[in-house]
Amino acid sequence: RPMSRLVIISNRVSVPTSDVGGAQGGLSVALAAALRESTGIWFGWSGEETAHFSGHINFQRNFGVTTATIDLEAQDIDEYYNGYANRTLWPLFHYRVDLAEFERGFAGGYERVNARFADTVAPLIEAEDLVWVHDYHLIPLGQKLRERGCRNRIGFFLHIPWPPTPLLLSLPSHRELVQSVFAYDVVGFQTLDSLEAFRDYARVQLDAEFGEDGSVTHEGRTIRAIACPIGIDTAEFRASATSEVALGVFERMRLSANGRTMIIGVDRLDYSKGLEERFLGYERFLGSHPDQHGAVFLLQIAPPSRADVQSYQEIRAHLDALSGRINGEFADAEWVPIRYVNKGHRRDQLAGMYRAARIGLVTPLRDGMNLVAKEYVAAQDPADPGVLILSRFAGAAEQLVDALLINPHSPEDMADAIATALAMPLAERIARWRRLMDNIEAEDVIWWRRRFTEALEAARPHPLPPG
Ligand code: UDP
Repeated sequence: RPMSRLVIISNRVSVPTSDVGGAQGGLSVALAAALRESTGIWFGWSGEETAHFSGHINFQRNFGVTTATIDLEAQDIDEYYNGYANRTLWPLFHYRVDLAEFERGFAGGYERVNARFADTVAPLIEAEDLVWVHDYHLIPLGQKLRERGCRNRIGFFLHIPWPPTPLLLSLPSHRELVQSVFAYDVVGFQTLDSLEAFRDYARVQLDAEFGEDGSVTHEGRTIRAIACPIGIDTAEFRASATSEVALGVFERMRLSANGRTMIIGVDRLDYSKGLEERFLGYERFLGSHPDQHGAVFLLQIAPPSRADVQSYQEIRAHLDALSGRINGEFADAEWVPIRYVNKGHRRDQLAGMYRAARIGLVTPLRDGMNLVAKEYVAAQDPADPGVLILSRFAGAAEQLVDALLINPHSPEDMADAIATALAMPLAERIARWRRLMDNIEAEDVIWWRRRFTEALEAARPHPLPPG
């Protein structure tokens, strides 16, 4: 049987530039890898602004991936992207109700842009295509496609956490949003924790019924809700860690470290990543381990993100101040404890840096998955691997149980873990790394894509609308 064509729809489409190089987000790297293996298209916003939305589609083909993009109006970008997606849903779904803004204009823009996506992509969908919608920007898209007569199998994957019911209730239109999920055939979450939270809402708020194999039924519609954690392209990333670029970076890092032990953090500059807490935990470690002054340093790579949103400007200012204060407190003429870098790096350069670091410090307060944790492990030298310190609140913690798991809110917990990692004997480092790597190899991005698309292929075709 020929493989169905895959139509992937996400907010942004990043045209692949090379196989590993560019500084792309986790989602885009994973999707480009998935599409390279099957036929189909990747549809979404170009990232560009237009004076009047026309529905014009720009088709391109690069490195085996066909992309179809549209431009959006300034008001769309403001209300849908900067507004509902990044000022309402992102903070709320990352447990930050305090940062969430509930503007009706944002909700209106979200509905409008989802309708524009549906209008534009619907004519591109052929009868047997599998349609796979991604992430919080496009939750109602499946429903809008159904309203336009789409009877294909449509799946939805949420890359960020699904929040507990009491938090979700603070969203004014929570019921409509969750009901729209029932237009899909398969709904995938990163973790069992998120899946359970979704099922809890369906049980308590919608009085849904639950069947075999993850099926959930509400008002006559049955969907399959599954946990399907995303992975990295492990083979490719491993290879990139010993590429010429990576080895060059590795050597330069060793020289510049000058015999000091390196700890690395790599995160978009986002309040969900726990960067302030990380700096405070590291400060606590320095305060309680004077013998380590001059012996370790923290390299924190933090490229700015969503700079149009005020809470992102605020976190940046806080981190500037905090890194400056800690460096001022502990530095001497020959040693700076934190190298704080606001510049993005190519992934093959990152691979070389990960490999040069004895500790990978991944401490988000909430994260759907966190691919950096997996990349750090994949980049290690099997004969002398570093230690992953991982927040319990990263989705990756459900799989990477052999990391040093910590509570990122506790500076003592973090300081203790750093000390434990520094003192860890080689044999234990190797044993832990091997078990982490077994998981990262088995549950890689190809496994993730197959698991999801097989669930979608197994779904029954959508019935004709009544009448
Ligand atoms: N990344 C990158 N260059 C940078 C920083 C990060 O290419 O300077 C990549 C990183 O290698 C990873 C992704 O961005 O693949 C981040 O994914 P993650 O799931 O950790 O976090 P997200 O940014 O999606 O919240």
